[in-house]
Amino acid sequence: MEKREMKIDIDPRAGFCFGVQNAIEIAEKELRAGHTVYCLGQIVHNEMEIARLEKLGLITIDHEQYRHLKNARVLIRAHGEPPETYRIARENNIHLIDATCPIVAHLQQKIRTCYDEIKKEQGQVVIFGKKGHAEVIGLIGQTGNTAIVINSEEDLDKIDYHRPVYLYSQTTRDIHQYEELKQEIQRRIREAGDQQPAPFISYNTICSQVSNRAPELQAFAREHDLMIFVSGRNSSNGKYLYEICRQTNPNTLFVSLPEELQLPLPGTPQRIGISGATSTPGWLMEQIRDKIARHYNL
Ligand code: SF4
Repeated sequence: MEKREMKIDIDPRAGFCFGVQNAIEIAEKELRAGHTVYCLGQIVHNEMEIARLEKLGLITIDHEQYRHLKNARVLIRAHGEPPETYRIARENNIHLIDATCPIVAHLQQKIRTCYDEIKKEQGQVVIFGKKGHAEVIGLIGQTGNTAIVINSEEDLDKIDYHRPVYLYSQTTRDIHQYEELKQEIQRRIREAGDQQPAPFISYNTICSQVSNRAPELQAFAREHDLMIFVSGRNSSNGKYLYEICRQTNPNTLFVSLPEELQLPLPGTPQRIGISGATSTPGWLMEQIRDKIARHYNL
């Protein structure tokens, strides 16, 4: 293939967030020490990284398999787990390797304390997040599964606007959507028309590793003619950031694996940017860069 003018940049801010990187390093250390390690749920929403760690010996199990496991070492991933998981571990002689992200662990603690303190005043813990998401399951577990999960305006009918409301967020949600829902809750409390409006306290608990990613990615996408966004298909952070990338630069391709990237690339791009989700490994973006470089003889 003829050599052509082309520059490929990997987004220096893309790749694993601190919490996921930490969990992977803990898993690798355990495996290197020769232990058999089970991971409760996928350690990261990226099939390639999971395959790499499974080659090293990591065994991924679901919650049903976990219930039947005894006398084993189990890793808790960055998303965290509800108290029930710890209870089962005690009963089944399971040694937990707790790789819950410290930011998530802190949020769990905050919600647990809030829940205990607001019981008397019949307050409601509300969590802006995706129902069924692992982190959200861990968060509502701190409230005996009584917290109200809201994902969109439709869910706001679940809240009683005559009682105190304490709003938190899953760490990986969109800040704008959070602000919109917060304002709508405030409006509904006013509309409830109580002489003494119900107290409302909101805590923006979106992780800065996520909220800063969007503006950083937008700036990077604007600097390139063609963007290649790399992410696992079941990563919610990946879907969110891909949308932002595509809206900023409509010339954006989505790929999960190097094999999915079709060559030659569309058009005649000169500056190609490669970026990814907080669950995309750096080595995967490098493989994609190398594939393009080989094809165009760079
Ligand atoms: S996104 Fe933030 S809170 Fe969530 S695992 Fe990563 S570092 Fe932790």
